[in-house]
Amino acid sequence: PPSPAPAAGPSVLPLRDGTGLELWANVGTVRESLAAAAAGAHGIGLARTEILFLDRPDAPAEAEQAERIAALLAPFRGRPVVVRALDAGADKPIPFLALDPEDNPALGVRGLRALLRRPAFFRTHLRAILRAGGAHDLRIMLPMVTVAEEMRAARGILADACREAGTPIPPLGAMIEVPAAALRIEDLVAETDFFSIGTNDLTQYVMAAERGRQDFAAFADAAHPAVIDLCAHVVRHANGRSVSVCGEAAGDPRAARLLVAAGIRRLSMAATRLGAIRAAFAA
Ligand code: PEP
Ligand code: MG
Repeated sequence: PPSPAPAAGPSVLPLRDGTGLELWANVGTVRESLAAAAAGAHGIGLARTEILFLDRPDAPAEAEQAERIAALLAPFRGRPVVVRALDAGADKPIPFLALDPEDNPALGVRGLRALLRRPAFFRTHLRAILRAGGAHDLRIMLPMVTVAEEMRAARGILADACREAGTPIPPLGAMIEVPAAALRIEDLVAETDFFSIGTNDLTQYVMAAERGRQDFAAFADAAHPAVIDLCAHVVRHANGRSVSVCGEAAGDPRAARLLVAAGIRRLSMAATRLGAIRAAFAA
């Protein structure tokens, strides 16, 4: 039988220090988006777009991309939504991008690196996101950012896409998943409107432990002090830019407590985790 829909609840939890903890949702399908809205998420903190592209021999046309992304966002009409540009490569292979085979794809051409190698596709994809986000408080986020030059290049392509789509330039965010980006977060501030830490990948790279490998669970632990300290560093050096966490750690009470202690006040998680996090931070 289908699991019961998560119960609704507050989207901001009051903390003892007088601040609030915002609860956002990660969604990759319309079903997840409906569940997240029903569960009372503040907004979409991570809309994963990969599902549109998996198992496709060719890139879907702009209109189809726009239509499917709009369907993903529809339950959050008028709400803040963060759409992540296609995160191709490594654990998310996308055949039509025709990237070269690699011995070590997790350290290869993935995320923003892949998008910048396919600028025509990237621009079309951004136009589709811009069109899909018209009824929302749209923000766009880029995966696997390493250095400021990549953000600058992406900004240029976004500006072109906005001109072509006839839309204003939305806030542009960077996922922080690469240790170099986290350690030098101040270098990204000038080019980046907000940050979201992807603890799934950041943990993989900090701990040198492949994500998804069950026998590495003890290493690949986002609650390890090395990962938490790096998250605290990001918060301290982000120069007032908002910093959220959208990895699975955000929905795990043990890791979430450590992230909040590290200064994080915005967590984005699967709708099914909202109840556990509300319970963990109940006053
Ligand atoms: C992450 O890496 O933590 C993340 C949220 O992105 P994904 O799991 O889609 O790589
Ligand atoms: Mg990631």
